[in-house]
Amino acid sequence: MSFEDLGLSENLLRAMKDCGYTEPTPIQAKAIPQILMAKDLVGLAQTGTGKTAAFTMPMIEILDGGRARARMPRSLILAPTRELAAQVAENFELYGKYTKLNMALLTGGTNMQEQIKLLDRGVDVLIATPGRLLDLFERGRILLTGVKVLVIDEADRMLDMGFIPDIEKIVSLLSPIRQTLLFSATMAPEIKRLTTKFLSNPKEVSVAPPASPAKNVEQFVVHTSQRNKNNMIRTIIQREDIKNAFVFCNRKRDVDMLTKWLCDRGYNARGMHGDMDQKTRTKTLEDFKGGNIRFLVCSDVAGRGIDVSDLSHVLNYDVPFNADDYVHRIGRTGRAGQSGRAWMLVTDRDDKFIDAVHKKIKKTIEVVDLDGKGRPQKSSGDASKAGSQGGNSQGGGSKSPAKARTHKKPEQKKQDAQKQDVKSGRGRSDAQPTTPNYADKPADDVKKVKRDEGNPTGHEDGFGDDIPAFLKM
Ligand code: AMP
Repeated sequence: MSFEDLGLSENLLRAMKDCGYTEPTPIQAKAIPQILMAKDLVGLAQTGTGKTAAFTMPMIEILDGGRARARMPRSLILAPTRELAAQVAENFELYGKYTKLNMALLTGGTNMQEQIKLLDRGVDVLIATPGRLLDLFERGRILLTGVKVLVIDEADRMLDMGFIPDIEKIVSLLSPIRQTLLFSATMAPEIKRLTTKFLSNPKEVSVAPPASPAKNVEQFVVHTSQRNKNNMIRTIIQREDIKNAFVFCNRKRDVDMLTKWLCDRGYNARGMHGDMDQKTRTKTLEDFKGGNIRFLVCSDVAGRGIDVSDLSHVLNYDVPFNADDYVHRIGRTGRAGQSGRAWMLVTDRDDKFIDAVHKKIKKTIEVVDLDGKGRPQKSSGDASKAGSQGGNSQGGGSKSPAKARTHKKPEQKKQDAQKQDVKSGRGRSDAQPTTPNYADKPADDVKKVKRDEGNPTGHEDGFGDDIPAFLKM
């Protein structure tokens, strides 16, 4: 199927070409014709499937030709986080570049006066997080009765973040004569209830079973102790050919701690979590997307939905408390048909959570024995059982370190990445208020870094009695 077959006009076809898209992704092929026929739609798709374009493109097509009126947007896209909203706005600008449509991005943590100015001029598309939208509405700055198309993006995340009451309030402010599109990676009962309440006879399109991780992401588990987690993350970093990675932590304080720990060892890492101001988060994201940061250590909320094409790895410092988050985390890699690798550290305390993850993804993640201890674990017992259940598990059970090494790409690439860590660590000047610029370090530390990365036996502080076997060899 081609974009022409979907009934998109010349303006959009040209924009697709400029983006280098040659054919629609499955969610686009299924959703776009339905949306163009003015149907309400439930899209079950995770990020990375091209779902943003699946609703942005037909929305542009529908709105093109009409005119915006002051304070009365013609369409509204609700996103759960600022980053996701900003990403939708980026997509909108790319796909709508040959149209005269304009938009406003309304998110917290940014200048409200600028947003009010845009609204006063009149916008076709409003892309907003629920809180800021309601704030502006309550100040009398927007009228929502002109909204003809409503998109609720990442509805499951809205649910997790407690936004459902806000969404219900916003929808009650809209005209009932509208088209509503709802996208979600999973269909929790509460989301189902929303679709019944707000959508009229919706078409349901789905591109992957709910909560199934991308097929082209290889997943691995490493058993470790709580106190050895940092070292184990480093072991993984040293063994894998990591171009760039998200490192997910469950707690904000661990984001800060791990970022500092990695920076202290010369890795080009930056932290991102919800307590950081918007300017810092935007800058961090830009730097990461621009290839200036190799490790983005983040919390689930901060990392959610962020579209970074070409992310080679996801490292889970913790097993997420919520199994859905695991699917979302690893969905950051393996995007747009590329392959990706996801590692997760598991401790004895995580039994309940890792079991929930296995249940969610309907298989048991392969266990890799990186420290040679090969300790038996309750969940690894399951792993050997489920190893034969298919997926990308290669037999389950504990794997030898050699197994992990077989996946490495040429050593040169890794060295280049390491050089990048040291170089950018040394040269970075954009210190953040919440994450000190640890990489701004004296030359001695840079030497230590080189030793640390180039030769694992050169720098083993903090190992205590827990020196991994491969370092002793
Ligand atoms: P999304 O699921 O919306 O976060 O999109 C994931 C990535 O897929 C984004 O980087 C898009 O630019 C990219 N993308 C969207 N549609 C296509 C397409 N038809 N062909 C290739 N890449 C696409």
